[in-house]
Order: sequence, then structure tokens, then C-alpha cells
Amino acid sequence: ALFVRQRTRANRRLALESERFRQLADLSGEYLFEYDFAADRLTLSERSAEHFGVPPVFERYAVTLQRCAQLDSALAPQAQFIEGLLRSHAIVQDLPCTFTDGKRRWLRVAAKVIADKDGRPLFSIGKVADIQAEREEHEALVHKAQRDSLTGVYNAATARTLVSERLRSLRPGSRGALLVLDIDHFKEVNDQYGHYIGDQVLIQAAATLQSVFRRDDIIGRLGGDEFLVFLPGGASRDILEAKCRQLQGAMRDNIHMAGGLAVTVAVGAVFSEAGSAFDPLYRAADAALYEVKRNGRNNFDISDGVTTDPGEGGENDRTSEPKQ
Ligand code: GH3
Ligand code: MG
Repeated sequence: ALFVRQRTRANRRLALESERFRQLADLSGEYLFEYDFAADRLTLSERSAEHFGVPPVFERYAVTLQRCAQLDSALAPQAQFIEGLLRSHAIVQDLPCTFTDGKRRWLRVAAKVIADKDGRPLFSIGKVADIQAEREEHEALVHKAQRDSLTGVYNAATARTLVSERLRSLRPGSRGALLVLDIDHFKEVNDQYGHYIGDQVLIQAAATLQSVFRRDDIIGRLGGDEFLVFLPGGASRDILEAKCRQLQGAMRDNIHMAGGLAVTVAVGAVFSEAGSAFDPLYRAADAALYEVKRNGRNNFDISDGVTTDPGEGGENDRTSEPKQ
């Protein structure tokens, strides 16, 4: 009778203790789980299962996860987390998690492994914090800091950093291109129609660039009416000429001024190769742009590349459209 009473008391103490931890986890907005390595079973607390809308117990969890991760790479971080647990015994990690209904949420998972006396992992206990809102807020802030507030394309500093990064990661032999564009006679748009319309033209010009170039290309506003576009690869002279003509047509078609006045742009472009640096490329594209402005605007000029040896004179093969 004494033994039973002691055991009952011990059980009550344990139940009270786990209830205390559950309440604490509730207070801090965290969700608890337990993973049994031998049984390959993941058990979630009632509240966790409820919050994430999933069953409280997952049998054959790691095995199923590994198999699914081979078919869907979005599941790889979850699968790697379990593997990492076996190696390091305690982890805190932000994970993009995919749920059974396909929905994705960012979770901060902290887990610790409980091992037997020989160090073999038995269980892992842990807590999960739902950081989706925090993550979205962070991404919105990063997005805002990187963008030009008027047009929504990258601002000058970010465009420069991103282009420099891409230039470093260009595969040898792959040809990219840097384009610098400037709207022709933009001051007259401001003078004739006012600053508000001037701003609308800048917004439309940025939207036109986004429609003409691919998602993978980097588009930025360098300031005023000057924009930059970087094509990270696969840029041949034919492709670039076709893109410049397409851009001229799209600017003409997309931006409508009173009286049917068309907005035209001058484009200076230069090819880039693995190892090119941003500054010389920008100078070459800007020099090409200057040529277009000098020769009457509404045109493009494509420079073959940056001559590394200044003694060579830097003379490049150029193509441009005859003036219309
Ligand atoms: P060009 O053909 O030689 O390029 O002549 P331009 O009149 O376009 O002259 P430029 O490119 O040197 O001038 C750009 C003008 O853009 C100067 C400035 O008044 C105007 N500008 C700069 N930023 C803004 C802006 O945010 N909004 C508006 N509406 N105008 C701006
Ligand atoms: Mg201009």
C-alpha cells in the first residue's frame, strides 16, 4: 500500500511538472513535440496539433519524410533537421516547413536529444515557435530597403551589389550584359506636364522594363530617369539587339502622353564575362549611352566588352540602329 501511495504521489508530481511546462510553453506561444528515434514516431502536444491543423501522432515520420523529400525538394530542410539532430544532439533552427496540406510556414524549432547511458539517442524533445509573421515582416523590411520607393525596382545601391554578386558567379564562357538606359528629354516631360506626370512616366518606364526583361534579370533605378538592367547569361549580340528594339517598341506603346507624344529612351549596353568588375562595365555602358545621346537619342549602342589593357585603346565593335 505504501509503494502504491508513493508511486501515485510521484506520478501526480510528474503530471504537475509536465502541466507546468505545458502552461509555460503556452504562455510563450510555443508548441511542444517529442520524437522517438527507435519507433520513428513524432508526437505533438494537443495544442501543437490543433494550431498546425495536423494529427497529433506521425508514425514512420523520418522514413516517410526522407522518401517525400526525394520527390519534393521543399521538404529537404525538415528531413535534414532530423538527420542533424542525430549528429549534434541539440539544435535551434529556423525551418521552412511544408505541412500535409501543402501549406508552408516558417518555424523556429529547438530540439534536444535524450540518449541512453551509452550515448545512443532515445528521444528528442523540443519546442516550436511559429515565426511566419515575424519572417514576413522581416522580408517586407528587406524588400523595402532594397527597392526604389517610386518605381518598385531595385535601388541603385542594391542593383550594384546584386550585379557584382552575379558577375562573380558567372560561369566561364557565359556571356552576360549590362544595359544603362536614360529617358530622352525627360526634363521637358516635367516642364510640360508637371512632376506628377513625370513620376508616372518613371513608374511606367520601370514597369515596361519588367515586362520586357526576364524575372532572373536585375532591374534597378540608378537615379533620376536613369535605369540599369543586367542579363546574367546567354546574351548574344542578336539577342541584345532584339531586346533593345523590343524595349523601344514597348516604351512607345506603354507610355501615353497627351497629344500622342512618345517617350523614347537611349540605351548603352556592354557584354560582360566571368570575372568582369562592375565599375568598368558601368563606365563602358555609360560611354555607349553617351554616344547615343550625342547622335540624336532614341537608339541603342552595344559595346563588345571592356578592354582590360588600356594600351589597346579600348576600341570596341559597336552596333546601333540607324536613326529613325
Ligand atoms: P536627355 O535626353 O539628355 O537625357 O535629357 P533629359 O531632359 O532627360 O535630361 P536628364 O536625363 O539629364 O535629366 C533627368 C531629369 O529628371 C532631371 C530631373 O529634373 C528629373 N528627375 C529626377 N528625378 C525625378 C523624379 O523622381 N521625378 C520626376 N518627375 N523627375 C525627376
Ligand atoms: Mg534623360
